[in-house]
Amino acid sequence: MINPHPGLPELEYVKPASLSEACKFLAEHDGAAKPFSGGTDCFVRLRDGVMKLDYLVDIKGLDGTNELTFDAKKGLTIGAAVTMNQVARNKDVIKHYPNLVQAANSVASYQLRNRATVIGNICNASPAGDTIGTCLVLDGVLNVTGTEGKRTIPLSSFFLAPGRTVLKAGEVVTSITLPPPPAGMVGVYKKLGRNIISDLSIVGVAVMGYPYSKSPSGYAFRIALASVAPVPMEALKAEAILSEKKITAESIAEAAEAAMNAVTPIDDVRGSARYRKQMVRNLTREALTEVWATLNK
Ligand SMILES: Cc1cc2nc3c(=O)[nH]c(=O)nc-3n(C[C@H](O)[C@H](O)[C@H](O)COP(=O)(O)OP(=O)(O)OC[C@H]3O[C@@H](n4cnc5c(N)ncnc54)[C@H](O)[C@@H]3O)c2cc1C
Repeated sequence: MINPHPGLPELEYVKPASLSEACKFLAEHDGAAKPFSGGTDCFVRLRDGVMKLDYLVDIKGLDGTNELTFDAKKGLTIGAAVTMNQVARNKDVIKHYPNLVQAANSVASYQLRNRATVIGNICNASPAGDTIGTCLVLDGVLNVTGTEGKRTIPLSSFFLAPGRTVLKAGEVVTSITLPPPPAGMVGVYKKLGRNIISDLSIVGVAVMGYPYSKSPSGYAFRIALASVAPVPMEALKAEAILSEKKITAESIAEAAEAAMNAVTPIDDVRGSARYRKQMVRNLTREALTEVWATLNK
């Protein structure tokens, strides 16, 4: 009989003294060890037997992972150990990146957000990750350390497939840097879930718009979509429509239609592919209309 309440399997908890020690251990135990922060994804996956490991490497507190800083020139840096709740209540985030606050607050419940991190949400590489779209439209760049040193990876080139990223053995994401938001930026995150709290998105839509003198419409829009393709994606054709055409209810509807046509969702327990496609159109139109109403005031 299947045990309906399985516990965590036996594994070793590793607490390295430094980032370089963590990277070395992870590289030496590739496939058997993984880094973790909040554990809200990996404990569940380990319990369910979807993830099999011998070691979990706790990266909380290692160099740079507790950082949450804003600099007017450099932007916002969110360390790997910084929780969703810390992000959502930070005064600089509230002032400069209100769309990130909205995205973080859409994740599960307050209790879960006390553990869950933005970097864990990204590194888990689920197409449904609720903070990923907003970090994408804000042009986030991941700061990564490995046994061969440091490198940066634009978030737009980080995801390969569900649960798979370009990280190499022994590499740890220490933080993400979001550049200063464009002047006049307005952003929203729309999440459709089966209930208001504690469920993954059926569809997630992150929209950001701002005045942009170089485009014919005078504005630039960025649109990222969750849960509707193997990896989080940007609706590039929809963005181009709003760059080329005067912003009206008609061009917004056309862009929303283009977003719908760009996605390749699957049927699952949360919703059918057909429903997801239509919800991409509806939520994108709703989000664009909301952003435009504020931009056009
Ligand atoms: C009840 C419940 C509800 C949930 N609801 C939502 C929801 O509404 N929306 C949503 O998006 N998610 C949801 N989740 C999923 C999860 O909470 C989030 O993805 C969370 O942000 C993960 O962060 P974490 O720090 O707990 O990640 P962890 O579990 O610590 O790690 C997640 C993955 O990332 C890897 N990783 C972590 N840190 C690093 C690093 N620094 N470098 C390299 N790899 C790393 C780990 O090896 C692991 O594979 C839910 C989970 C549960 C249990």
